[in-house]
Amino acid sequence: MKKLQNILNNKKYQNNRLASYSYSIKSSFLQNIFITLIFFSGMMVTTLSYSQPYVPAHDPILQQVAKEVPPKEILQEENQKIIDNMVKIARNETRGMAGLAAPQIGVPLQIILVNMNASLEKADNSMSAKIYINPKIIWKSEEEVEEYFEGCFSTGSLIGMVPRYKTVRIEAYTRNGNKEEFEFTGYTARIFQHEIDHLHGLRFPDRMKENFDKLHWVEAGKMAEYATNFNNWDKKCSKDEWLSFINEAPPSNNK
Ligand SMILES: [Zn+2]
Repeated sequence: MKKLQNILNNKKYQNNRLASYSYSIKSSFLQNIFITLIFFSGMMVTTLSYSQPYVPAHDPILQQVAKEVPPKEILQEENQKIIDNMVKIARNETRGMAGLAAPQIGVPLQIILVNMNASLEKADNSMSAKIYINPKIIWKSEEEVEEYFEGCFSTGSLIGMVPRYKTVRIEAYTRNGNKEEFEFTGYTARIFQHEIDHLHGLRFPDRMKENFDKLHWVEAGKMAEYATNFNNWDKKCSKDEWLSFINEAPPSNNK
């Protein structure tokens, strides 16, 4: 999930990193306060090289259920190397990252990374990478759902308004092999829901349901314009177009 940046809120472009894609916009956008975070997602790359780590949006791995890591194997060198690589990718992602799931870099395992510093409220979203293995949502605040914008490193230049539970309780293994429980609310809870969805072959447009009129193509240089004009954005992406994009798009089709 792309990292959010405080684009507006009377501050205009404080941060050049906003030139990227994915983001979130507070659902109180009906009011005048307008906080836009940029969560960048998905570049169309097929290699696992360090500079281009993400698989393309149409890669079948992004629609498959990832395998659990046997708890006894978490400490094995092979798995620790995958984790180290995810952390390295997160720390070097200059566009801002809120989270990363292993399938996004071509690894079909249930491992996610969450940037614990990612926030809607503050502009400094420096990387604080935490790893969660075999994460499961064991409780969610079904009565409390919030909508906010999301983008993803695995959906090209799409931005959409996604409903998520406000609070979730997570059960997961740490990279040290300990099973723990965690509770998160607000934006961090959103990141967990986004990343755990990746482990089950889902991306944020798959959660939009009747909200598909709020799924838009937003070019990298148009984020500030979009943040002030998303209600009238004419580059909509229909559900059929989304399905076509992820099932048929050639690697070079980074719309
Ligand atoms: Zn994502």
